[in-house]
Amino acid sequence: ISYNSARFLTSAPTITQCPKDSGSEVAFAGRSNAGKSSAINTITNNSKLARTSKTPGRTQLINFFTLNVPGCRLVDLPGYGYAKVSKEVKTEWQEHMDEYLHARESLKGLVLVMDIRKPLSDFDTMMLEWAEASKLPISILLTKADKLRSGAAKNLLAKIKTELKEFEYLASVILFSSLKKTGVENAQKQLDSWLME
Ligand code: GDP
Repeated sequence: ISYNSARFLTSAPTITQCPKDSGSEVAFAGRSNAGKSSAINTITNNSKLARTSKTPGRTQLINFFTLNVPGCRLVDLPGYGYAKVSKEVKTEWQEHMDEYLHARESLKGLVLVMDIRKPLSDFDTMMLEWAEASKLPISILLTKADKLRSGAAKNLLAKIKTELKEFEYLASVILFSSLKKTGVENAQKQLDSWLME
C-alpha cells in the first residue's frame, strides 16, 4: 500500500454515520496532543491530511481516508482527554468509541499514539482493555521520541514493553518521531499486514 495515496473521504459525527462497514480499515487513537495527527501526516507523507490540533479536542469527528488499494481506509478517531471538554462530552465520546471498536467489522487494527514522555494514561489503558475485549490487535506508537536522547528513548521503550507484558500477544510497540521520521517504515509495515491480511 502506498500511504501517500491517502485522501480525505468523509467525516462522521457518530458511528451510525460512518461509511459502509466493508473492506478493511485501521484506526488511530490517542489523547489530545499526544501527536496523533502528526503521526498520520508523517505516515502518509502529507502534512495537511489530518489537522494538527492547536485547539485539541475541539472537533469530535471521526475522519476517514481512502488509500490506493480499494476498500482500504485509515481512520482518525477524535482525540481524547482535553481538559476543557465537559464530563457529558467525555461520556458520549467513550460510548461512541466503545461502540465503534466493538461493532466495526472492517476494523482490523488500532494504532494507539502516546507521547513517549507520558505513556499509558488512564485513556490508553482503557483503549487497551477495549481492544482486548474486541480481540483487536494494537500497535503503540511512542511518539516525540526525538524529545529524548536515544538511550533514554530505548530504555523507556523496554520499560513500556515490560509494563505491557499482559497485552504482549495483542500489542506491538514502535519508537516513533514525526519530527525525525523515526519508525515510519515499521508503522507502515504494521498497517500493511493488517490491511492486506
Ligand atoms: P494530536 O492532538 O494528538 O493530533 O497532536 P498533534 O499531532 O497536533 O501534535 C501536538 C503537538 O506536538 C504539536 O505541537 C506537534 O507539533 C507536536 N508533535 C507531534 N509529534 C511530534 C514529534 O514527533 N516530535 C516533536 N518534537 N513534536 C511533535
